[in-house]
Order: sequence, then structure tokens, then C-alpha cells
Amino acid sequence: MTPVLYLVIPCYNEEEVLPLTSGKFKAKLDELVKAEKISDRSRVMFVNDGSSDSTWDILTSLCDEDERYSAISLSRNRGHQNALIAGLMEAKRFADITISMDCDGQDDFNAIGLMVDEYAKGSEIVYGVRNDRKKDSWFKRSSARSYYRFLRGMGVDIIPDHADFRLMSSRVLDALEGYGEVNLFLRGIIPQLGFKQAVVYYARAEREAGTTHYPLSKMTALAIDGVTSFSVRPLRLITLMGFIVAFLSLVGIIYVLVSFFSGHVADGWASTTCILCFVSGIQMIGLGVIGEYVGKIYLETKKRPRYIVSERKNIPEE
Ligand code: UDP
Ligand code: MG
Repeated sequence: MTPVLYLVIPCYNEEEVLPLTSGKFKAKLDELVKAEKISDRSRVMFVNDGSSDSTWDILTSLCDEDERYSAISLSRNRGHQNALIAGLMEAKRFADITISMDCDGQDDFNAIGLMVDEYAKGSEIVYGVRNDRKKDSWFKRSSARSYYRFLRGMGVDIIPDHADFRLMSSRVLDALEGYGEVNLFLRGIIPQLGFKQAVVYYARAEREAGTTHYPLSKMTALAIDGVTSFSVRPLRLITLMGFIVAFLSLVGIIYVLVSFFSGHVADGWASTTCILCFVSGIQMIGLGVIGEYVGKIYLETKKRPRYIVSERKNIPEE
């Protein structure tokens, strides 16, 4: 039996891109169906992440034209990671395997076939990994590299140069459903799930149209989530820093006492100010890092839903 494949594609204000790429997703499905690698019940499933342009209109008319397209719409913009999990959980009801990818044509269409081959060979998670970063700006390239190194140092298990282009089987998705966290960082969770895993290399293309929805601010937020959702090591580092500062203070106190008894007490202004600045700086960093975790706990304890599906198109109701 050939597996049912659902391509899960989040879209946020992508009216410029969708007319260019939507046909390519379907053509790829057709090719794989013809090659008898996947079932003819396979679908392209779009997730409209609360777009404010005509994205949803484009998606509904695609669904009207062809039943191989299906789409869900979130009640508002919830961000890429939440849009992905919404689509994956919806697709899980019908699919044997899902592949999540960007709608802008940056993820290589030809890698889809390679991923399905890896699944046929027994892997249940297949990561799409970029084989080079030549097209990235210097800033993006070097910040990504140092970030991966930092994550590894913090003890977070992550696949370098892999974003959210990956194949997952329905068994993996069942396991993923158990991870109810609101601060979602899929790249960190998936390697923790286990199962047989494989990697497919691909060259990341330029966006076919439109502009990125990941400005520096969103990227930084995702990067911080990546660390604080998976590691408490930053908290330990604060403790370590506390010990170091306490030790330095001890040395400082001895110095002060020695100075006092030898009669040099008037000229202490510079050293006092330096120590004051240093210690209060450390304290502020410490508070900030602790605050990050407290904020996370606050959001997690509310257990609010990660997304609300407001509309469905070409999806059978249960
Ligand atoms: N996206 C989304 N919600 C958002 C931001 C982005 O669903 O709030 C989608 C977007 O439509 C695209 C994918 O996530 O399909 C990746 O975004 P983008 O291409 O802008 O990021 P980049 O590839 O530049 O990192
Ligand atoms: Mg993109």
C-alpha cells in the first residue's frame, strides 16, 4: 500500500507567492502518485495563519478548482510554529506521512521525493538540511553558526542547518501531540522524539516573490525560545557567576581591610564605583534570565490553546 502524503504549508500574507508556487506543489504530488510512491489520496494542505491580505481568498479558490488542495484558516496570526502544528495535527487525521515546508519555494521541491524514499526505507522522521549557506548574508550565516554552537553548549539537541522542512510519519505526529507546550520550538522537540531518523540534503533557493516574515525581532524571539524551552543551563550559569563574583568580592574585602589598617582609606572612589557597576550589571543579567523562565512558566500554566481553527476547506468534518 502506498502512503497518503500531506504537504503542510503555512502561509502568512503570501498573495504574491501563492500563484507562483501552488501549482508546483500539486505537480510534485502528481509526479509521485504516477511513480506509485504515494497514494492518490495525497493532498496539499495550506494553513492560512491569519493573513490580512487576499491569501485566504486565493486558497479557497484553489480548493474550489481542485480537490487535491485543502486549507484551514486560523482565527488570527499565531506565528509560523503554531501554524505548522495546526496543519500537522489536522493532516494527521488523514495522512500516513506529512512534509512541512515553506510556501515561498525556498524548500526544494525535488527533496520531497527523496524524503518519501527515505520513509520507504524505514525512517519515520526525515530532516531537510541545507547543504550550503552561500546565498545567505554574512550576518545571517555567522549568527546562525554561532547560535547552533551556543545551543549545543547549552545541551540542546538540534540538527544544524535544518529549519522546518521535514517529513514525519503519523506515529511521530501522535507522539508530538503529547507535547503540549505553548512556547513551541519544533526543531528542538522533534529530535527528542526518537524513532528512526534520516537526513536529506538540499540547496535552499531564493524566495520566489514577496519578503520574509522573519525580521530580526522575530528571529531573536525564536532563538531565545530555542534555548529557554529546552535547557536550564542559563540558570546554572547565573549560579556559577554568583560564586565567581562572591569570590572576587572576598578578595576585594581583604584588599579593603588591608588598606584600612594601613591608613589608605580616602582614595577608594574608583574601585568602589567599578565594583558597584560590575555587580549590578551581573544582577540585572541574572534577573533578566530568571525573568525569561518565569515568563515561560506563566504562559505554560495558563494552558491556553495554541491556535483556533476558524475555517476549513476541502476537509471532511468528523
Ligand atoms: N509564516 C507563517 N506565520 C508567520 C510568519 C511566517 O505562517 O507569522 C510562514 C510563511 O508564510 C512561510 C513560512 O512561514 O511559508 C516561513 O516564513 P518566511 O519565508 O517569511 O521566513 P524565512 O524563509 O525568510 O525564514
Ligand atoms: Mg521563506
